[in-house]
Amino acid sequence: MDAVLDGGFVVRWLTAAAGLVEREAERLTELDSAIGDADHGANMQRGFAAVVKTVDTRPPGTPGAVLIAAGRQLISTVGGASGPLYGTLLRRAGKSLGEAPQVTVGELQTALRAGVKSVQELGGSAPGDKTMLDALVPGVEALATSFEAAAGAAEQGARDTVPMLARKGRASYLGERSIGHQDPGATSSALLFAALAEAAR
Ligand code: ADP
Ligand code: MG
Repeated sequence: MDAVLDGGFVVRWLTAAAGLVEREAERLTELDSAIGDADHGANMQRGFAAVVKTVDTRPPGTPGAVLIAAGRQLISTVGGASGPLYGTLLRRAGKSLGEAPQVTVGELQTALRAGVKSVQELGGSAPGDKTMLDALVPGVEALATSFEAAAGAAEQGARDTVPMLARKGRASYLGERSIGHQDPGATSSALLFAALAEAAR
């Protein structure tokens, strides 16, 4: 838990996230075509490509500043529900880190918890509603163990959305027909944790 993370680490995280989103875009779109409007892959690609452009400056700012800049970029670039939600997650986490040039994994976990809470407030959603929260919450909690554990927990959380009935977002319009499909946003959230583990390796 005492590894120290700087702004460069956060840039590597977001860059790895953009890479995974690029690689998995087709799958995200496929999932969103089953229970949404088939734009989640494109939304995430557009958003994270813009994030990388924004944060890839030399030298990087503090971890907090990098996250705030990334969050703002997602909010202004992505039209779908996921843009403001992910943007809020990163921006709120960045605010919580303040101006520290380096932070511990524990501090990052506390910051991401604050970010997840803001997502819940903005989305009016809770774990179990079949949304990104079903991967974000277990991912953030497992950060207490390791980055790898967080990636595994988020991935399991995404898989666990399959039997759920969607209560928020477009998928909720389908009612019972949303059952049996993995939530696209939970799937992209798992990619964010996989990217975190990749950046830490
Ligand atoms: P849109 O639904 O506007 O087309 P996206 O397809 O990019 O946006 O994102 C859809 C994902 O956003 C869903 O799979 C879900 O995980 C997440 N989502 C939608 N509404 C909410 C909400 N109210 N709270 C949390 N997450 C949500
Ligand atoms: Mg969509």
